[in-house]
Amino acid sequence: MKVAVIGGGIAGVSAAYELARAGVDFTLYEASHRLGGIIETVRRDGFVIECGPDSWVTEKPWARELAVELGLESEIIPSNDQQRRTYIVQSGEMVAMPDGMRMMVPTQWEPLLSSPLFSAEAKRDYLREPDQADELKAAVPESDESVASFVRRHFGDEVAATIAAPLLSGVFGGSVERLSVRAVMPAFVKMEREQGSLIQAMRKVAQESSAAVFTTLKSGLGTLVDCMVATLPAASVRLGDAVAGIARSGKNWQISASSGATEFDAVLVATPADVTRGLLAPLDAGCDELLAMEASSAIVVALAFAPEAAATLRIPHGFGFLVPQSFEREAEPQLLACTFVDQKFAHRAPRDGVLLRAFFGGEAAPRLLDSPDDGLVELARQQLSALLGSLPEASFSVVRRWPRSLPQYAVGHLERMARLEERLRGLPGLKLIGNAYYGVGLPDLIRQGRAAVRGLVFPSLLSR
Ligand SMILES: Cc1cc2nc3c(=O)[nH]c(=O)nc-3n(C[C@H](O)[C@H](O)[C@H](O)COP(=O)(O)OP(=O)(O)OC[C@H]3O[C@@H](n4cnc5c(N)ncnc54)[C@H](O)[C@@H]3O)c2cc1C
Repeated sequence: MKVAVIGGGIAGVSAAYELARAGVDFTLYEASHRLGGIIETVRRDGFVIECGPDSWVTEKPWARELAVELGLESEIIPSNDQQRRTYIVQSGEMVAMPDGMRMMVPTQWEPLLSSPLFSAEAKRDYLREPDQADELKAAVPESDESVASFVRRHFGDEVAATIAAPLLSGVFGGSVERLSVRAVMPAFVKMEREQGSLIQAMRKVAQESSAAVFTTLKSGLGTLVDCMVATLPAASVRLGDAVAGIARSGKNWQISASSGATEFDAVLVATPADVTRGLLAPLDAGCDELLAMEASSAIVVALAFAPEAAATLRIPHGFGFLVPQSFEREAEPQLLACTFVDQKFAHRAPRDGVLLRAFFGGEAAPRLLDSPDDGLVELARQQLSALLGSLPEASFSVVRRWPRSLPQYAVGHLERMARLEERLRGLPGLKLIGNAYYGVGLPDLIRQGRAAVRGLVFPSLLSR
């Protein structure tokens, strides 16, 4: 059996790693000159700077399992949850989210009731929610709804706008009015179905689990990619080799890439949704509409302050802040969030150094994608100074642009994916993996990439 993997982000590299382990002949095509896609770690002067993802969600096991399998157990580190405090920017000030919040759900009353983040009315809405468990359970809608509508049913308008919107935009870069609750918050939907009240359900979860919320690797997530790549036969990896077309050739698939055309028994398409859409269009026009999705862009501006420069900084304790976004197209570009990286994780900065990672996203990002690095650094510095006090010159900065990198799972996403799978049955031996379908987080993509290979290879071994 010979398999083509198109796209060398985490989904494609995980698939290639699994193919290598199974001893299957494969070619991994990657358009750029490096593997990892959105995962990129820059190491400089004692700083470990993540240009894309900085961690995975601990409760999903697949990234950790892979790291252990790769011999990276001693590299695995948790987020510093004793420092875990996130601020929301309100009227130009950073206001701490109350302790004990799990996303927008409080697990303790006292910090919530004494928090200046919410009005008395919002606090009343919170207090009422557990008493409405039966009504909420009975009122679960038949079909999908937006995250905003789900949150409003439990906690009202203010909570949806003040906290759900910036939290979700921080992860997906999109509007909670459009995001599908079933696709992006399945655990919350399950809690509602089973218990009605999210507060009651989340309190049980909080009592049962004391694990840190996020997990990463000491030397950065690039190590996860590097260790997988080290197991791949060099001749199987084609960098700078963009795939331009996929065509049926009898029972096989013909891949046309910059390097020429080759035939394979099976194809795993691990490219971003826009590229996948173009590749599938000649094979099945029906997939086109199902793959057409909004995607948001992100820009990361990391500012590294060596100990001398950092001495004058007064960064509050916590993981960072989120800025509620204006979705008006004309609004001034605003930061979406900033992570206080050296507080969130150990091993990210030299002793007494400070590492800030600012993000632009949502409606603002497309307008900034063409700005030069200097301009982006200056814009980030100005907006950070307004919140954190004046910033000294950074010792160095790193800027990365990720255009249309985060597909938006709009309401009805899972039904569209079911229809897409149905259509793909007409293209046997071709599978889609990547962040456009069943999760944008690293654990989900690792699981998908590896499972897709098992789905291809095991049936083929059995039929021998
Ligand atoms: C700023 C940012 C921060 C994030 N933070 C987190 C986080 O902390 N934790 C988390 O779990 N997730 C996070 N995410 C989400 C996560 O990083 C992505 O969903 C994930 O990395 C996407 O992986 P992928 O393999 O699907 O796609 P990609 O990484 O986009 O890889 C696709 C690859 O396909 C290649 N390609 C494109 N066209 C072709 C072609 N024609 N031929 C061959 N190759 C092609 C591209 O060059 C690319 O390498 C973040 C995302 C962003 C943008």
